[in-house]
Amino acid sequence: MINLVLFGPPGAGKGTQSEKLIQKYGFVHISTGDLFRWHTKNDTPLGKRVKEIMNSGALVPDEITIAMLKEELDKNPQAKGFLFDGFPRTVPQAEALDKFMQANNTAIHYVIALEVTEEEVRNRIAKRRTIENRVDDEEEKLNKRITEYFTKTIHVLPYYKNQRRLNTVHGIGDIGEIFNNIATIIDKK
Ligand code: AMP
Repeated sequence: MINLVLFGPPGAGKGTQSEKLIQKYGFVHISTGDLFRWHTKNDTPLGKRVKEIMNSGALVPDEITIAMLKEELDKNPQAKGFLFDGFPRTVPQAEALDKFMQANNTAIHYVIALEVTEEEVRNRIAKRRTIENRVDDEEEKLNKRITEYFTKTIHVLPYYKNQRRLNTVHGIGDIGEIFNNIATIIDKK
């Protein structure tokens, strides 16, 4: 079993790279953003709780996010491996993920951070907004989401770096080339 965390700011290309990684390695994809969007779209009790928070561009509280993630892990006992996309976004989430992995006698084997500058992130999100029309990507939320990343989520990186689990990949440029750089890290170990 191989488990991977794909890390990076909103608009860094995590979704695109996740699709390619799933195709090549057969990961079960766990995107907490996609899960929250599913819940809000289907107006579930969880969706009702997080709708306003998501619409503001803020992070959903750890307690809610971690519980949803645990449920998703429990739904996939046969998984060959998980690809976590958009999770963890805080140190308590990273710690909870390690605990869940340990409880299943496994671990997070790779943490790959896509490095993209704030300016590039803003350009990419603006482009994606015109293509996908994602509700959480409206103009007024953009600053908040980027701020959440650069003030809160970024602190997850030292957590993994101190444990020598962090790999960084330059996230700007050709999609195929970025993918090859990620695959090289995975295949090397
Ligand atoms: P994403 O598509 O990953 O950018 O997620 C969209 C939104 O869902 C975020 O702006 C947050 O409101 C919420 N969200 C997704 N993942 C998390 C997480 N790990 N922790 C807290 N909030 C999250």
